[in-house]
Amino acid sequence: MNVNQSAPPVPPFGQPQPVYLGHHQSSYGGQPGSTTAPTSYGAYNGPVPGYQQTPPPGVSRAPPSSGAPPASTAQGPCGQTAYGQFGQGDVQNGPSSTVQMQRLPGYQPFGSAILAPVVSQPAVLQPYGPPPTSAQVTAQLAGMQISGTVAPASPPSGLGYGPPTSLASASGSFPNSGLYGSYPQGQAPPLGQAQGHPGTQPPQRSVPLQASSFTPPASGGPRMPSMTGPLLPGQSFGGLPVSQPNHVSSPAPQALPPGTQMTGPPGPPLPPMHSSQQPGYQLQQNGSFGPTRGPQSNYGSPYPGAAAFGSQPGPPQPLPAKRLDPDAIPSPIQVIEDDRNNRGSEPFVTGVRGQVPPLVTTNFLVKDQGNASPRYIRCTSYNIPCTSDMAKQAQVPLAAVIKPLARLPPEEASPYVVDHGESGPLRCNRCKAYMCPFMQFVEGGRRFQCCFCSCINDVPPQYFQHLDHTGKRVDACDRPELSLGSYEFLATVDYCKNNKFPSPPAFIFMIDVSYNAIRSGLVRLLCEELKSLLDFLPREGGAEESAIRVGFVTYNKVLHFYNVKSSLAQPQMMVVSDVGDMFVPLLDGFLVNVNESQAVITSLLDQIPEMFADTRETETVFAPVIQAGMEALKAAECAGKLFLFHTSLPIAEAPGKLKNRDDRKLINTDKEKTLFQPQTGAYQTLAKECVAQGCCVDLFLFPNQYVDVATLSVVPQLTGGSVYKYACFQVENDQERFLSDLRRDVQKVVGFDAVMRVRTSTGIRAVDFFGAFYMNNTTDVELAGLDGDKTVTVEFKHDDRLNEENGALLQCALLYTSCAGQRRLRIHNLALNCCTQLADLYRNCETDTLINYMAKFAYRGVLSSPVKTVRDTLITQCAQILACYRKNCASPSSAGQLILPECMKLLPVYLNCVLKSDVLQPGAEVTTDDRAYVRQLVTSMDVAETNVFFYPRLLPLTKSPIENTTEPPAVRASEERLSNGDIYLLENGLNLFLWVGASVQQGVVQSLFGVSSFSQITSGLSVLPVLDNLLSKKVQGLIDSLRAQRSRYMKLIVVKQEDKLETLFKHFLVEDKSLSGGASYVDFLCHMHKEIRQLLS
Ligand SMILES: [Zn+2]
Repeated sequence: MNVNQSAPPVPPFGQPQPVYLGHHQSSYGGQPGSTTAPTSYGAYNGPVPGYQQTPPPGVSRAPPSSGAPPASTAQGPCGQTAYGQFGQGDVQNGPSSTVQMQRLPGYQPFGSAILAPVVSQPAVLQPYGPPPTSAQVTAQLAGMQISGTVAPASPPSGLGYGPPTSLASASGSFPNSGLYGSYPQGQAPPLGQAQGHPGTQPPQRSVPLQASSFTPPASGGPRMPSMTGPLLPGQSFGGLPVSQPNHVSSPAPQALPPGTQMTGPPGPPLPPMHSSQQPGYQLQQNGSFGPTRGPQSNYGSPYPGAAAFGSQPGPPQPLPAKRLDPDAIPSPIQVIEDDRNNRGSEPFVTGVRGQVPPLVTTNFLVKDQGNASPRYIRCTSYNIPCTSDMAKQAQVPLAAVIKPLARLPPEEASPYVVDHGESGPLRCNRCKAYMCPFMQFVEGGRRFQCCFCSCINDVPPQYFQHLDHTGKRVDACDRPELSLGSYEFLATVDYCKNNKFPSPPAFIFMIDVSYNAIRSGLVRLLCEELKSLLDFLPREGGAEESAIRVGFVTYNKVLHFYNVKSSLAQPQMMVVSDVGDMFVPLLDGFLVNVNESQAVITSLLDQIPEMFADTRETETVFAPVIQAGMEALKAAECAGKLFLFHTSLPIAEAPGKLKNRDDRKLINTDKEKTLFQPQTGAYQTLAKECVAQGCCVDLFLFPNQYVDVATLSVVPQLTGGSVYKYACFQVENDQERFLSDLRRDVQKVVGFDAVMRVRTSTGIRAVDFFGAFYMNNTTDVELAGLDGDKTVTVEFKHDDRLNEENGALLQCALLYTSCAGQRRLRIHNLALNCCTQLADLYRNCETDTLINYMAKFAYRGVLSSPVKTVRDTLITQCAQILACYRKNCASPSSAGQLILPECMKLLPVYLNCVLKSDVLQPGAEVTTDDRAYVRQLVTSMDVAETNVFFYPRLLPLTKSPIENTTEPPAVRASEERLSNGDIYLLENGLNLFLWVGASVQQGVVQSLFGVSSFSQITSGLSVLPVLDNLLSKKVQGLIDSLRAQRSRYMKLIVVKQEDKLETLFKHFLVEDKSLSGGASYVDFLCHMHKEIRQLLS
């Protein structure tokens, strides 16, 4: 499959040099041929071939691998077409003899196929100009106001508000969901049905708003007693103006003195205008994707809050309508569509400091011109406050979500590999930062000043180059490390353990063969699959075969090791029953080359299901299995990965033995945190040993009941591994999902035995880290393995003053061993702006990244704090962020207005989704294991994954013409948006539902399900029949494409309207009130407004 040139032989490294990642090489002398004039090495910084190509609409760029035969299909086409363009000619044409560069070979096909941007917007949305230049971006004012009223002294008459004193109606509409406060003493947690969403009753079409009569806070009326306190009976969150379209006034601040800010004119409906890049006012597209809503009286009504702006006094207007129109509050769908339309067509060029990239939901290409691609690093803000006081005031977390080994679409070049020969990569003597485009060469090029610590360093003779009249090295654009945001260095032996180049890694498959595993058909399925899957282990360069060796273990209460040496006629089994003191009974013949031992391995995989077919053993061990795998890698002196396939709570007598401690009664108590904590410290100790060995553990769980995921996932979590969970696994139902995940997991490129360090320029430093890794000190993130899906999230704090001129720099250096055993350093650089005005911070934020960070922060918080405290902390922080904006950046206006920064207008809706998630507010049907599982999954998710996970995509299938095969525009995740004459797909990266309305046309039912009526559709169906008609093909194609975009296979569930499965589906309609007590978007927005007002008063 490859594509690229194989790595050149590692040059001899004669000069032993001191330290591993910590010390600078001491001598530069003696480099041969070092000053050869460098020449261009090809097109890396020119247009990448095919760069401008746009894929045909609806066609994914990489074939979906799900359901495909192992790897061959997934890799073949990509290798030939996608990567094929980077052939010989792409590699440098004559580098200096000590600088060799090549494309990083062998990356997997970009599994997340990118769909062509959907352009099916109403015409009014299309005539946007080209994306703004960077200057425009920073000049834009981003104020979005949900204008409101000054809370009236008394509710205007005749407006349909519940009477202020109507305690019953208010409390009924706000069933004190636990979101806004603790459950009042003696009150049961609202897990039940009290929310007006009776599970099996016909759906109520307009629940969220009508139910919550927005009693405006009458003067002297009840207010929230405290920010986090319980809601009193009868209290409601008044204050948010009801009936306001999302009128927005956002002229440039410098252009208008306070008080002259324009409001949207009262009168007839405004044409929908987009304003994210332009000053002006903005209106949410009114129901453009939802069901037709009829004339919106709201739009025609005056703005009661207008007087507050000064420029349009007008007479006080009565509040015109009963409810807050959901179309008038910020819509995720609209924001996503706008960004796609505005930023999806041009490549994102990274040459400018502090640029906010397009959203993760936008399909765009990246051109590296000195900063790392947003595929590698995304920040909560691209403009950092100069002082810690400002940062504290704003409360906006400063964090970067880093995906060091992110896979790229085929159109984008993998990082070049730079070989600086024996001396190794050039670094700053003091802070050890690696050479990068921001280093400043001085004294005619003989020295350079470090951009991170300002230390002046000598340039080694072999690296010397003259400067041009601008002070830039004349070879700057020929060297990746001087011109690109991301590149790799070949590491010298100093960067290797024990000063020895590593051996290629190994994979060990460790299979539970207890009764449950055999009975469910798992063992037979797995063994059958492995026979072919082993041919597709990750490879590098033009290698004919993978360098990775494999080994096999089966286990229940005891472990069975297999000798699969190629010279054997039959595999040999060795049993270790002393699980208390695990050792590896054989070295020779345990880890083998797949090709050499193919016959023996096939024979073994044929025999395993037979050998244990009649087992009655139900008990299993767990820790000793990991121990055994780790010891085997240690004995073989290599890093590697264990693939564990495990079914039950390990109750057999052995280290790491667990007991069933599941207790749902702990939910909403101070002890709830124990459900997320491991029940024994043994696994942390074990994980630490694994990390030291570079032993990454991937765990596939097949539980029929509680298995204590919180404890079993400790080792995968700390070693950079993955956990997959298939509850109540049955081959016939779950085979496709499991095999698809397994194939992807086995084939994916992994960096082993990795250490990551994030350096920063003076003034800020990395203080906190989130993800699947281990840390032994405060700076080095240790990863036994790191794959292209996993992120490490880093939070920064000030330790000094920053200045606007210099900005702030980040450099992420990942040292790792490639699949072929090559030791490399991958470097990502990113320059950010610094600001002295808070408005600049708010204008350059990225809410998706902010939510990613906040979710991880909260999900870690539940390990040590009561869940309620964690929720309250999030709400408070969000309110502080928005209140600071309101106070310092928005023009003066009435307190009754909720004003949100343009870049953060989705913060409330997304934060509400985090607060309602299963970890922070579990529904009755969510198990303790599910919560622990999701908790650890989110920890290493990237921004795109958290975005769709917390706010699922809901796609109408039958609204657009059947011939239109592009992905339909999504609608908001609310029951209100469902029409019973339509069919919808809903996905969140883990789950996939097909919802069928009860009044769907018969023809559609026939085309899609092959049955004649709605009643004949099988509820819970997981596979659609393959039928020879356009609609069927279109839906199948869409499902395939959605699956291809996600890192885990999403199993389909067909849900019929008003069927009992619908409750499950509705859980994902996140704008609605949830059964577990989570607030609707509208209610939460009102609450947030209230919190902000309290902070401001
Ligand atoms: Zn330095």
